[in-house]
Amino acid sequence: MENFKKSVIYQIYPKSFCDSNGDGIGDIRGIIQKLDYIKSLGVDYIWSTPFFASPMNDNGYDVEDYRKIHPAFGTMEDTEEMIAEAGKRGMGIMMDMVFNHTSTRHEWFQKALSGEKDYMDYYIFKEGTPREPPTNWQSKFGGSAWEYVPALQKWYLHLFDVTQADLNWENPRVREELKDIIRFWKEKGVKGFRFDVVNLISKPEIFEDDAQGDGRRFYSDGPRVHEYLKELTADTGIGHMVTVGEMSSTSLEHCIRYSNPKEKELSMCFNFHHLKVDYKDGEKWELSKPDYRKLKELFETWQCEMEQGNGWNALFWCNHDQPRIVSRLGDDKKHWKASAKMLAACIHMLRGTPYIYP
Ligand code: CA
Repeated sequence: MENFKKSVIYQIYPKSFCDSNGDGIGDIRGIIQKLDYIKSLGVDYIWSTPFFASPMNDNGYDVEDYRKIHPAFGTMEDTEEMIAEAGKRGMGIMMDMVFNHTSTRHEWFQKALSGEKDYMDYYIFKEGTPREPPTNWQSKFGGSAWEYVPALQKWYLHLFDVTQADLNWENPRVREELKDIIRFWKEKGVKGFRFDVVNLISKPEIFEDDAQGDGRRFYSDGPRVHEYLKELTADTGIGHMVTVGEMSSTSLEHCIRYSNPKEKELSMCFNFHHLKVDYKDGEKWELSKPDYRKLKELFETWQCEMEQGNGWNALFWCNHDQPRIVSRLGDDKKHWKASAKMLAACIHMLRGTPYIYP
């Protein structure tokens, strides 16, 4: 395993990063133009949010074809050049794999909609009457997590947008398809993978109403998630690469299992507990004064207990789903530079465990 514990990973949201041809949309050639600059920051890996073919209902996290590049961002040739040029500078490209769901425009879902049984098994279709969804689960984007398809007289599950149908990981053919996508990108020379909401891939055997919540307790860190990750990693040979799983509403115990090298699942986990200390009444888009004591407690608990369990946290302050941290915990007006440096130093110093590097 590479020493990812010392690595710096730079996230790019390509749409707004660098526009090489003046059409108003950032693109892959723009990333290529900035590689020397990124290298000068001390970066080891670049993780870009998805730039695959997509209707962009969820900014590319609704993938229509995992082997095609969205034309607004460039071509496969551009992507290959970016991978090669980053490599020349000693940096690896990490691809963002959205494997909990596909766009409903994906060929698999289109075949499922036309009634092809094999492809209906790629997704989670359930019987039900038009008026009553199979369960009361709520989509993370609001409303029911189920959509009715009159022609099939069935509902399909979408934990996110209605155009993002959840994949059925219980089906071994689905798992093989996803492994093939990993192999495809590995052969292109990418050096790592980020897996979107990967702790949601294993759904329960029985689908039932959630009397206590929106259903997440049944599928977050679900029953076969560790088994699936072990299989994916072993069968694609990515155990030596840097991998990070985005974990939604997860627990310390599960994150230790996801990231302990002995388990052979992932290199590290993203969790978001420390980014909720300024939510007003649990609402993401309503900010209140940050609870710094809670922030310190969360960092301490996660750092110490992950260390004890030999797991690894990805250290980060914000991403494409979060407002910028300088605006949240710092001062983005008069003292922006000092507070940016303070926050960067704080996250950088969070964990250093000399015994790991004898
Ligand atoms: Ca452009």
